[in-house]
Amino acid sequence: MKATEIAEKVLSGEVSARSVVEHHIETINKIESDVNAFNLVTAEQALMDADEIDSKIASGETLGPLAGVPISIKDNLCTRGVETTCGSKILEGWKPPYNATVIEKLKEAGAVVMGKTNLDEFAMGSSTENSAFGPTRNPHNLELVPGGSSGGSAAAVAAGFSPLALGSDTGGSIRQPAALCGVVGVKPTYGRVSRYGLVAFASSLDQVGPFANTVSDAALTLEVISGHDPRDSTSIPEKPLDISEVLDQGVDGMRIGVIEELSGKGLEGISPDVSSRVEEAIKVFSNAGAIVESASVPASIYGLSAYYVIAPAEASSNLARYDGIRFGPRTEAATTAETMTATRTKGFGDEVKRRIMLGTYALSAGYYDAYYGKSQRVRTLIMNDFAKAYEKFDILISPTAPTTAFPLGDKTADPMQMYLQDVCTIPSNLAGHPAMSVPFGFGEDGMPVGIQILAPAMAEREMFQAAKVLESESGEGIE
Ligand code: GLN
Repeated sequence: MKATEIAEKVLSGEVSARSVVEHHIETINKIESDVNAFNLVTAEQALMDADEIDSKIASGETLGPLAGVPISIKDNLCTRGVETTCGSKILEGWKPPYNATVIEKLKEAGAVVMGKTNLDEFAMGSSTENSAFGPTRNPHNLELVPGGSSGGSAAAVAAGFSPLALGSDTGGSIRQPAALCGVVGVKPTYGRVSRYGLVAFASSLDQVGPFANTVSDAALTLEVISGHDPRDSTSIPEKPLDISEVLDQGVDGMRIGVIEELSGKGLEGISPDVSSRVEEAIKVFSNAGAIVESASVPASIYGLSAYYVIAPAEASSNLARYDGIRFGPRTEAATTAETMTATRTKGFGDEVKRRIMLGTYALSAGYYDAYYGKSQRVRTLIMNDFAKAYEKFDILISPTAPTTAFPLGDKTADPMQMYLQDVCTIPSNLAGHPAMSVPFGFGEDGMPVGIQILAPAMAEREMFQAAKVLESESGEGIE
């Protein structure tokens, strides 16, 4: 069932929040052992929360727009008293003393947290194979990856464990797994959603966003979690979004650009399965009255290279806090310095160590300008190119990921191949712009394909209008 339908039925008393939660726990019990979407299922707490909602409804209290709707939370968002691991041994057993702002907002809206979902360690990866707690599998085909790093959240929605989930997106970690699992995934404008209580990976790029089965469910969730938060200094001083009122306005007259550098012919490695769906999407938009033309964002092709300097540089600094002194398990050694080294050597996985080394090198004296400085200049070029493109277009489109879901183990030996999964998604993070993935049919392999819709900063409403049009023609939206 759609989240909006669940909330409606719970609010009207037609179904109880408890029965909704019980139904989802049953589904989890049936197939979670195959999928491994969760690091922790908080079933008992979820039932207690559901009972509380039911008793509030019985006593006539007004409840929020997500009353009784189950939601799964990426395990890098702080949940008070509930283990938050970031998919890493270095935080195993750590229970945050506070809730992330997005968790508080969801609870206020009546949503019921089902558990903490698996991710690539510290959100570094594109397949969820970098989790210290084993990989998540794609519910459409258990031999294949769900994408990453929010693979657990995408899989939880695709498997029917909860109609909604939250993830984080630093270079594509919401959109790429959404595409590979056939669900909707949204990265909002940087600053639109509070990062307070999101464990930092690369602070200038990280954003929290929703996963859902439908565009309208994603819109509702984003409305709930958006808005200014004085606890996050990068939070934009704006009211929460109101998307629902424009959601059905269509794309008649909208100017839509197809990013040539990131689509079909412009980029090596885009599979025909994916590029043919982009062609279909163009037809859908044209038939719906949009003016669709080819667009150019020339510097976008350098996004991946700039990202793999900037993100590790910020990560190397953010991850310095895991020293065995303040959080998680400690590996004791003779001196404090040796204790820190031993804890970090044992606690971090290979990919995290690779990023810390890359980042530390890029920031070191003598190399700073050549790597970090240059990457920041590339970032500016990308922003300028987007600004030029948006003089002509209202929104842009591209594939979300270059391929459909790939087999487990296929790319783990070659980090470059894995990094290439994010070639289409990274430019929006570097620019701070919103972008989302909408499921749009399947490839020849029978696996879902996602179309990415990109918009200028703060233009989530136009982005969602277009997403709704695409969804209505994909035959995939759950009604
Ligand atoms: N796959 C990219 C990375 O490994 C993006 C990760 C993310 O968005 N968190 O850095």
